[in-house]
Amino acid sequence: MKLLFILLLSFISLFSSTIEHKVWDKGESLLTFFKKNHISKDVYFNLSKTDKELCSEIIAGTKYHIMINENDSIDQVLIPISEEMQIHIQKENVGYSLDIIPIEFTQFDQTISISINSSPYKDIVEQTNNKLLARELLRSFKKNVPFKKMRKGNHVVIHFSQRVRLGQYFGAPKIKSAMVEVRKRKYYIFKNEKDDRYYDEKARSMTSFFLKVPLRYKRISSKFTYKRYHPILKKYKAHLGIDYAAPTGRKIFAAASGKIIHRGRKGGYGKTIIIRHKNGYKTLYAHQYKFAKGLRVGSYVKQGRLIGYVGSTGRSTGPHLHFGLYKNGRAVNPNKIIRVTKTKLKGKVKNKFVKFVKLQKIMLDKALGENKKPLNFDSFKNNYPIEDKLGV
Ligand SMILES: [Zn+2]
Repeated sequence: MKLLFILLLSFISLFSSTIEHKVWDKGESLLTFFKKNHISKDVYFNLSKTDKELCSEIIAGTKYHIMINENDSIDQVLIPISEEMQIHIQKENVGYSLDIIPIEFTQFDQTISISINSSPYKDIVEQTNNKLLARELLRSFKKNVPFKKMRKGNHVVIHFSQRVRLGQYFGAPKIKSAMVEVRKRKYYIFKNEKDDRYYDEKARSMTSFFLKVPLRYKRISSKFTYKRYHPILKKYKAHLGIDYAAPTGRKIFAAASGKIIHRGRKGGYGKTIIIRHKNGYKTLYAHQYKFAKGLRVGSYVKQGRLIGYVGSTGRSTGPHLHFGLYKNGRAVNPNKIIRVTKTKLKGKVKNKFVKFVKLQKIMLDKALGENKKPLNFDSFKNNYPIEDKLGV
């Protein structure tokens, strides 16, 4: 009887914990969050250098989840820092622990055919409810297609993959190939996985946008790594940028033209500038000694403009520039994008690409004929838990 009572009690207490869905405030850092929630600062200070840097990847406006127990204190927290990883804070017997774990999601590959009624953007959004998909499609075709000449009943066919989490789109869609019909002509684009850029059927680049190295550096002290989660070590070995070692005071230049959207401290990244560019790119310049004069949030800077000086602010072991490059909010390897200045694929890469194009074209044309409708994700709403209801 007593045992039953205890069982019953633990059953009730299990269910009296609640999950709250919150949004990360502007100006909030992990340390202010800890202070507010009575979590010891040591949890942060005891982290490795790489984990501290990853903790600086939290972006204001990010949706995160907290599980509160019956005593009104925090049991667990999940804060996404990229499309794949999240900070996981958990109550232990004494104090809290912090580790970085994968985000659970489901990925769907689909090919859809959208019949145009008013405009490609409007019709894609209406039929898929996916604004990012519409934006990415228009951006990738850009001026290469006379969208204005499209007629009612023309089609847009898109082959893409999209992550879904908690019954909603999660992260930016990845277009692998697409076709736009304008009157009787068909225009195609194909993504080359190797450099993450779009090319036409003849393997000619559709994007002229590229960056250059943002400073004169001594050596690369830390490369970009997006190493997968190690299930046994339960650790990410990720470094979402390139560290360029250079003496304090060395000039840092904007890698491409764009608008400054952050200028100030950013957790372990110290004094940081973030610039937003065309085509969904952002660049980040961390650990600066000081910023160049006359810049503020909202300033437009040209490629090559002096923006600051190398330093060691934030969590840093010596003067260096941590340079981050993001495409649609996802960290990408700057070396892959920056060093690519070719406008046409050649050799082996081209041969492989041409094979890919052939298969994709058949698939796109088939989807056009079959009028392929988008998947409906409503049915995933309930059976998709937050990391199994925070059992994690
Ligand atoms: Zn770094």
